[in-house]
Amino acid sequence: MMTEEKSLNFIEEIIEADLKAGKHKTIATRFPPEPNGYLHIGHAKSICLNFGLAQKYGGKTNLRFDDTNPVTEETEYVENIKADVKWLGFEWAEELYASDYFPQLYAFAVKLINKGFAYVDDSTSEEMAKQKGAPTVPGTNSKYRSRSIEENLKLFTEMKEGKHPDGSKVLRAKIDMGHVNMLMRDPVIYRVKHAHHHRTGDTWCVYPMYDFAHGQSDAIEQITHSVCTLEFVPHRELYDWFIEKLEIYPSKQYEFARLNMTYTMMSKRKLMQLVNENLVSGWDDPRMPTLSGARRRGYTPEAFREFCEKIGVAKRDNLIDLSLLEFCVREHLNKIAYRRMVVFDPLKVVITNYEEGKLEMMPSENNTEAAENAGVREMPFSRELFIEKDDFMEVPPKKYFRLSPGGMVRLKSGFIIKCGEVIKDANGNVTELRCTYISESRSGHDTSGVQVKGVIHWVSAAHAVPVEVRQYEKLFVTEDMNAIEDDFKNHLNPHSLHVLPKVYAEPALLNAKVGEHFQFLRMGYFCLDPDSTREKLVFNRTVTLRDSK
Ligand code: ATP
Ligand code: MG
Repeated sequence: MMTEEKSLNFIEEIIEADLKAGKHKTIATRFPPEPNGYLHIGHAKSICLNFGLAQKYGGKTNLRFDDTNPVTEETEYVENIKADVKWLGFEWAEELYASDYFPQLYAFAVKLINKGFAYVDDSTSEEMAKQKGAPTVPGTNSKYRSRSIEENLKLFTEMKEGKHPDGSKVLRAKIDMGHVNMLMRDPVIYRVKHAHHHRTGDTWCVYPMYDFAHGQSDAIEQITHSVCTLEFVPHRELYDWFIEKLEIYPSKQYEFARLNMTYTMMSKRKLMQLVNENLVSGWDDPRMPTLSGARRRGYTPEAFREFCEKIGVAKRDNLIDLSLLEFCVREHLNKIAYRRMVVFDPLKVVITNYEEGKLEMMPSENNTEAAENAGVREMPFSRELFIEKDDFMEVPPKKYFRLSPGGMVRLKSGFIIKCGEVIKDANGNVTELRCTYISESRSGHDTSGVQVKGVIHWVSAAHAVPVEVRQYEKLFVTEDMNAIEDDFKNHLNPHSLHVLPKVYAEPALLNAKVGEHFQFLRMGYFCLDPDSTREKLVFNRTVTLRDSK
């Protein structure tokens, strides 16, 4: 077998160099979501990257909930994040919570104070903002910067003990108020916040800031390569500074470009607004770019992994075409989805030379594109059928291969039929076609010698199952949602959902299970929605058969 030589991405190059130099025996990565919402397609990129690297180099990946902010986090999100990572096909080495490190992070802060690298500041946030200076203007020292180590220790202990109200005091790293990197100008590392935490309850009323939690958590877990998105580039200097001053495990941070996709918005905070304002049916609305929405819509983990592989790991921000993800979804579904016949807009066909009350079962292949023989199902064939209205034209153009008066077409896995009389209602609308069939033309046993070019799908009218179909369009009408300046809600597509309350499915679909994938012949890929009941099956259109562009 030919193996495709794939060039290494820049993080793989770094890892291979590190392993070669003997810097690490094995690697450790982490996926660190903040549990303040549901994961989206951008997170899939980060998950595939972090877990993929560890798999490739025989290392491990931790799932770490970055839950240091007490006010925004909830257990519901934790559970859904875990389900999404598993669904994508990855197993974490350990499930960890940054909040479990609160005692250790507190001890790290005390260590910094003891080394003279941190001080308690009573300045208001406005005063601190003024002290920061500007990118080209150095900042100024706070008047509390020269407090003694003893005084700092005493005040920080009081902060922890709840003796100071929110916002009255912070702990700041003592670095350099004239530093070219603004983040190095004595950043706040601990704040007082009397808030209930989803895991630690009311144990703490001081909480570490992101920069004083992330790198330290990496070091505690001995993460070798801490991969994050580009907006953290300026934080790297601070990340390294804390590790050096605390003399802890030297984790290293590497940044890649976040995934941006056309017609898509990836921000938990904004997606939450859509949910809270009932602009979608929930986090798992099939139009949402969340992993739970994509799953419900019928996207597969295989398609996501292939997509992430295809887009690679970029060092500069870019915009990936949504159609590439859809392409990956189609490619995978083509191989796994069973074919079924469903008539969306029915036109009745009566086969006048087919015995009344007669029923034949017509075997039809489930999927000839599958890796293994997918077998057949039997479709009932009878005198009255439904075909798509679109598959008939009274006055056909040249090269029209479907049905027209006097014309012939093959019914897929059935017979060749010939159109005779066209029945219309008082308004001139076609309501029924009277056809004849060629009994020797049965699919697979055709001895008729008749050649026809068109093949159409159909269902037996008496056996058809009415089902609901939900067709989705893009949720946003604007290609680059990062470039907009007004409210993102102005860019919602008002026509993103079309419900077809009654389409006619072949009876095999009665056995469909929630989440099962199907190709409705000539119509697209669909999957059964959890809203389905015994009385009414609901199918989501996952993706069309072809890119409409
Ligand atoms: P959001 O703004 O949607 O809340 P976030 O970056 O704040 O995203 P986190 O929960 O902090 O979300 O992210 C967990 C990990 O996923 C981080 O390492 C983050 O860099 C990564 N990540 C988030 N969004 C993307 C994206 N669009 N592309 C690639 N990685 C992403
Ligand atoms: Mg975040």
